[in-house]
Amino acid sequence: MNENNPMTKRHAVCIPYPAQGHVTPMLKLAKLLNANHNFHISFVNTHHNHRRLLRSHGPNGVSGLPSFRFHSISDGLPAADNPDATQDIPALCNSINQKGSTAFRDLLSNLDFAGDAPPVSCVVADAGMAFAVEVAEELGLPVARFWTASACGLLGYAQHECLIQMGIIPLPDSSCLTNGYLDKVVEGIPSMEGITLKHLPSFIRTTDINDFMLNFIPHRVRTISTSNCPLILNTFEALDDPTLQTLVATNITKTPVFPIGPLSLHLTKTPVHPKIRSNLLPEDPCCLPWLDTKPPGSVIYVNFGSVTVLTPNQVTEFAWGLVNSMQSFLWVIRPGLVGPGEPGSTALTIQELVDGAQGRGMLMSWCDQEKVLAHSSVGGFLTHCGWNSTIEALSHGVPMVCWPFFAEQMTNCWFCCEKWGVGAEIGELRIEEVERVVRMVMEGDKGKEMKRKTGEWKKLAEDATMNPNGSSYLNFNKLVNHLIGA
Ligand code: UDP
Repeated sequence: MNENNPMTKRHAVCIPYPAQGHVTPMLKLAKLLNANHNFHISFVNTHHNHRRLLRSHGPNGVSGLPSFRFHSISDGLPAADNPDATQDIPALCNSINQKGSTAFRDLLSNLDFAGDAPPVSCVVADAGMAFAVEVAEELGLPVARFWTASACGLLGYAQHECLIQMGIIPLPDSSCLTNGYLDKVVEGIPSMEGITLKHLPSFIRTTDINDFMLNFIPHRVRTISTSNCPLILNTFEALDDPTLQTLVATNITKTPVFPIGPLSLHLTKTPVHPKIRSNLLPEDPCCLPWLDTKPPGSVIYVNFGSVTVLTPNQVTEFAWGLVNSMQSFLWVIRPGLVGPGEPGSTALTIQELVDGAQGRGMLMSWCDQEKVLAHSSVGGFLTHCGWNSTIEALSHGVPMVCWPFFAEQMTNCWFCCEKWGVGAEIGELRIEEVERVVRMVMEGDKGKEMKRKTGEWKKLAEDATMNPNGSSYLNFNKLVNHLIGA
């Protein structure tokens, strides 16, 4: 094959689940295939997210490059009135998986007949887009499935069926949410000894056996365990070895697993073209000059990701906890982060928060998170424990104050605090508790120990990705070999 002839390149179609936490890691993987392994890339967003990229970055956000192109298919939902509002997750999972396969099949056939790109040669599909794996298999194309959440999250979800059979979930009644039922230790999960129900993925917190998410995710996990399609994970062996071994030993996956992360560290040596953008919201660059004015390790960075919605009362507890901790803080309040208020709530205004912080606080609507985490002034990260945020914090050696919101974030939090020594969890959300945990991580001996530990993980992560004999480096090459059918 002539590597310089654009029409004879390998052509990978990459299709993420349509949410920021899936688009970002898939885009990183696509950039690596494109820049380091000479693949032509077709990156498939939904029309909804394609429009958001266009709005955030202008035509450059979706024009791509001759060898890296953006395409879009419908998610099957009606167009949103407020395009920045978080999409309804169960509705989106349901709709795209019902309607996606026709749209995806049509797209693949159009790509093949367009004549301006090499024929499609392989597919990388998000684990939430099972239809795309099926279409690729139907067409006889090599395909790999990308589980963009954590390995421990996958192991946690895989317990749902067993917990249902044991009668532990669904919850007997809604009082179980508050009466200590969730503190029950779940015995017998290898590599999760001592975990409690409340740290298993949150979709178990229902009294309804027919609850959509309680059933959807185990179904996805079953799809993984019965498929021949290899599984990509954004983690590295040194971090997750016991969990990876359990996934294989308990037949949650019987196909090769490629832990290739942290993807951002792979990318540090790869020149990335500014036209290839993943952020669905515009980034505010002002925080970096502000961070430059702060002493090393003095700022706590606060970001709850792209899906979490806080009540105004929760915002108030966080805000005064941060102010009272006397630390400098940089807080991302994205559009839609704060939901409707509780009856009679006395929500704090943003202006009150800024005034209360007396120059120590900076608020913004979205940032380039990796640049912030890499900044020497950042000494801690108050996070919802989304997997991308967690692995990014580990990659940059930043200890975490953990406040998981939903899904497998609970399990990520437990691993950060109990297994990896890099996190401290906020218990009941109260001003004093936020202040206590923030101070502990930023100033206390425990914080120093966590900082030391994150530094160790960071070195191991760098070794895994940047050393040609590193586990993730080698696994990436194995993935490439699978995709080219070698
Ligand atoms: N992110 C970002 N800027 C922000 C907030 C988030 O770049 O202001 C990125 C972050 O780096 C991560 C992703 O968005 O890659 C969020 O994914 P995560 O899994 O942490 O959480 P989710 O949004 O899925 O809840």
